[in-house]
Amino acid sequence: MALIVQKFGGTSVGTVERIEQVAEKVKKFREGGDDIVVVVSAMSGETNRLIDLAKQISDTPVPRELDVMVSTGEQVTIALLSMALIKRGVPAVSYTGNQVRILTDSAHNKARILQIDDQKIRADLKAGRVVVVAGFQGVDEHGNITTLGRGGSDTTGVALAAALKADECQIYTDVDGVYTTDPRVVPQAQRLDKITFEEMLEMASLGSKVLQIRSVEFAGKYNVPLRVLHSFQEGPGTLITLDEEESMEQPIISGIAFNRDEAKLTIRGVPDTPGVAFKILGPISAANIEVDMIVQNVSHDNTTDFTFTVHRNDYQNALRVLEQTASEIGAREVVGDTNIAKVSIVGVGMRSHAGVASRMFEALAKESINIQMISTSEIKVSVVIEEKYLELAVRALHTAFELDAPARQGE
Ligand code: ADP
Ligand code: ASP
Ligand code: MG
Repeated sequence: MALIVQKFGGTSVGTVERIEQVAEKVKKFREGGDDIVVVVSAMSGETNRLIDLAKQISDTPVPRELDVMVSTGEQVTIALLSMALIKRGVPAVSYTGNQVRILTDSAHNKARILQIDDQKIRADLKAGRVVVVAGFQGVDEHGNITTLGRGGSDTTGVALAAALKADECQIYTDVDGVYTTDPRVVPQAQRLDKITFEEMLEMASLGSKVLQIRSVEFAGKYNVPLRVLHSFQEGPGTLITLDEEESMEQPIISGIAFNRDEAKLTIRGVPDTPGVAFKILGPISAANIEVDMIVQNVSHDNTTDFTFTVHRNDYQNALRVLEQTASEIGAREVVGDTNIAKVSIVGVGMRSHAGVASRMFEALAKESINIQMISTSEIKVSVVIEEKYLELAVRALHTAFELDAPARQGE
């Protein structure tokens, strides 16, 4: 008999009818003899609705109180799903993060899970119950409610699977697996049967929101077998695996990720002396702003231009800090740009193939898309481009790296 953790996302529990459908599905699994722990998100749109409410009170809601409020979304769905299961004759019990005791640190709105108490859950499973746990939330050592950041229910699912040493963690969502790129942007995108943890980690951190990045980190660290599946369609989904198969068919690129969440800042005419990067980025990091890509150009007159990207939410803050720095170090000017997007190609196949980056640049050049910044690592190449070309760029790259699904007859 297997122990399976199943996580259902917001759209899968978006209406009472869907919740009834999820209950039917869980009931069938249960009849197969497996022990089931279910993690649910809030109904789709609910977390956004709650955040909007808070923003009507304050642009910057007190993080602790925001957590008290947004955690209610998941409290509703755990109760509804348990009711739907019990109605079907399936013994079930719901728990909030606090009730299980999913212990987190105290970083409200982006807390990390430290420990999960599995006693209650194990006792319920032993008594034949399906256990329904609220995703996205936990409690800190002082008893304050915390939340795990947007998309955090994935992480609750994987962390529970790790704590319970589950046989598999199944992430049920509104797509039937992980695709070569977001199928909403590229209709020719293809489902992957398998993707490595390393690739999935890159995809998630570079913008593919199908799995929260921390859930992939957790799964990799604790070797949790993880699968992404469609909530209401049968199919094998996508398995996130440890092994990198060396096969002839191994594609060079597994996927394309993108995001519109960053903004670019440039400080021009900086006197070029040792320590200049620290002078510029030190105050940014002191302001708790994370920097992603960095480019420094050296010019002939002993000055340098320095460009970096930050999250768009941090843009105004970063601009203020940088303008202050510019006046202190005698730089010529500061310019900012929020109309950028980052596109990345990801694949472990890059390790054994040369010329991947130039193939990417060629494909973008053919579409006359200007590259503003580049960064590479062993298994990814990222470029920053003007935001309005994002979809064109993703489609062009998808075709250039031969990821498009073969056209079906008659299309
Ligand atoms: P849930 O509410 O179930 O957590 P999400 O909206 O968080 O669902 O994640 C599923 C969505 O992720 C899909 O609808 C899809 O548009 C998007 N997505 C982005 N990149 C990918 C990808 N590479 N493969 C599959 N889906 C992706
Ligand atoms: N409800 C939370 C969110 O919308 C958590 C989740 O869905 O994973 O971000
Ligand atoms: Mg999600």
